[in-house]
Amino acid sequence: MRTTLWTAAILAAPVLSLLHQHPDELPDLSWDFVIVGGGAAGGVLANRLTEVREFNVLLLEAGPDTGDIFNFSMPFPVSTLSPFTPYDWNYTTVPETSTNNRVLGYPLGHVLGGSTSINSLLYTRGPSDDWNWLAEELEDDSWSWKNMQRFFQKNERWVHNDSTSGRFDPAHHSTSGMNFVSLPQAPESIDEMIIQTSKDHPEEYPFNVDMNSGRPLGLGWAQSTMAHGRRSTARTSYLSNEVLARPNLHILVNVFVTRLAPPSDGHTFSQVEFAYGPDKAHLATLTATHDLILSAGSINTPRILLHSGIGHPTTLASVGIPQVLPLPSVGQNLSDHTLVRLNFLVNSTDTWERFSNNQTLEEEYVKMWKETKQGPLGNGVFNHILFAKLSEEANDSSGEPNVEVLFNNGILPPWQPETGNYLSVIPILLTPTSRGHVIINSTSPLSPPLISPSFLSTEYDMKALRYAIRLAIGFVKRAPWEGYILSPFGFPESFMVDDSPRPASDSNELEADGIMDEWVRANAGTTAHPAGTCALSKLGADYGCVDLDFRVKGVKGVRVVDASVFPRIPRAHTQAPVYVVAEKAAEVIKVEYGYGRGGRAPVVHSGVGFGASGEEL
Ligand SMILES: Cc1cc2nc3c(=O)[nH]c(=O)nc-3n(C[C@H](O)[C@H](O)[C@H](O)COP(=O)(O)OP(=O)(O)OC[C@H]3O[C@@H](n4cnc5c(N)ncnc54)[C@H](O)[C@@H]3O)c2cc1C
Repeated sequence: MRTTLWTAAILAAPVLSLLHQHPDELPDLSWDFVIVGGGAAGGVLANRLTEVREFNVLLLEAGPDTGDIFNFSMPFPVSTLSPFTPYDWNYTTVPETSTNNRVLGYPLGHVLGGSTSINSLLYTRGPSDDWNWLAEELEDDSWSWKNMQRFFQKNERWVHNDSTSGRFDPAHHSTSGMNFVSLPQAPESIDEMIIQTSKDHPEEYPFNVDMNSGRPLGLGWAQSTMAHGRRSTARTSYLSNEVLARPNLHILVNVFVTRLAPPSDGHTFSQVEFAYGPDKAHLATLTATHDLILSAGSINTPRILLHSGIGHPTTLASVGIPQVLPLPSVGQNLSDHTLVRLNFLVNSTDTWERFSNNQTLEEEYVKMWKETKQGPLGNGVFNHILFAKLSEEANDSSGEPNVEVLFNNGILPPWQPETGNYLSVIPILLTPTSRGHVIINSTSPLSPPLISPSFLSTEYDMKALRYAIRLAIGFVKRAPWEGYILSPFGFPESFMVDDSPRPASDSNELEADGIMDEWVRANAGTTAHPAGTCALSKLGADYGCVDLDFRVKGVKGVRVVDASVFPRIPRAHTQAPVYVVAEKAAEVIKVEYGYGRGGRAPVVHSGVGFGASGEEL
């Protein structure tokens, strides 16, 4: 059963001369930029900086290249890629009382393409107000929604794969960017019930024709990083084989960056140290003449900085790492969207279980996908999103959601029970007030970091998630679902009775709330959207790690560009925000060195990735 889809399968490996597997293969070049991490941000930077022929760029990636494994291009089998696979960092959280002292899996991509290679594909820009808030916070209008649009345009390559009208608004989309974005390619049997519920109750679940307009509130068709039946990732777009052919871009995979080598003058970093080989037993260093750029993500970037002596003096002293720069915000402010899964047994055979529990049909679908890129495996796992506000804030005219609900037409394989058919509804908290941290507790850079997301550690977060759960249950109890839902599966029956969304401040229903809270603390997990651990902040701010040019405050030669730079987590699935922040950073860096917008020389390369016709990588 698990030999087809659920085990990664190898196709012919492409030969990519500038993608190196071992440090000995590197040419004897002087590197202008060394980028750490080949994920969303690192991919953008490697691409955009090597548009300048004069720049030699080296990208270091801890994971392997997966361009040859078909599960990485098939959109559906996201749950075969993480958690706890060779393509995941296999991190877990520390036990925390707010989640019943459970140790939670914390998936992050450990492959070229980073988390974009293993993510769930949803493409959401977030509300315009989030970007406008950022512009105000940073006192820099270039971060406003309006001014960030050109970076979204550089990132998005909309593919109109659905002739049904009214499912998106072309006015908000770019067809010339790097990552393919499209509507669902295959219908799900629950689509009609979802849409009908919105039609029947437009005040509660208003239909939103395009959630990427800057006003995401309501129910709409999901937009995802896929097209032509394939995933679109940082690997297939910014780091496509075409881009990897550039003579000034080299990528070294399977190398683990341990730290920045201590600066000889005490503040100018130019060398990065990395471990490689079996058991990472060998150490080497490389030099960047312009900048070292950390794009290792919100957990690993602070991990590297702390091992380099940049962080909170108390943390560094307690571990015994010599302090190079006191920067207390490193690793703090960890923010993430927490979720729960509400599974229901349903009265239908037309759910994912029809093939996830039927090897013959599953093999047929794999064959169909290989031959035509069609069928259920050529689609992502979400066809709709519901963004909603807490009712007590409904008077706020900004159109900002606080919570989100997603719908799966089954339990994500391979976690489905062997019998039965299911609906899985996923309430998510978008505006957490809990803040966690990432620290280290060893001088060995190979020891995993301690991740404390502190999920649901504030009363507001608990109330808001409770609200989202009631909203989700209320949604699937409307008339279009009559006769469909048989029973809750894995959560208390009492939630079904008590389904009315209520203001987050309402404390009358203490008993029902208490039962729900207990279940939530025992079941909540991560959306894998960590952000904020090395935040941007304006000059003179009393928090933050990087200036508006992405340079680490107080030292020279090192920048941070990845999800860790958001001072506040966007109300969005985070890949689109990270892609555009990296596009912006690439421009800032190019301009600083005299290239690009207003600079002295035009860019010289371009390249999109697997083409509009859908050819291989
Ligand atoms: C399971 C999962 C599902 C998700 N679903 C969605 C979704 O549906 N929609 C959405 O918008 N977002 C989703 N996300 C989040 C989104 O993918 C991330 O926010 C985004 O990729 C973050 O970009 P980044 O550049 O900060 O980090 P990443 O993309 O994670 O890239 C970091 C890279 O750095 C490498 N690296 C780290 N440390 C080192 C080191 N020491 N040495 C060398 N290399 C190193 C990593 O291996 C990785 O390749 C999901 C994430 C996960 C894990």
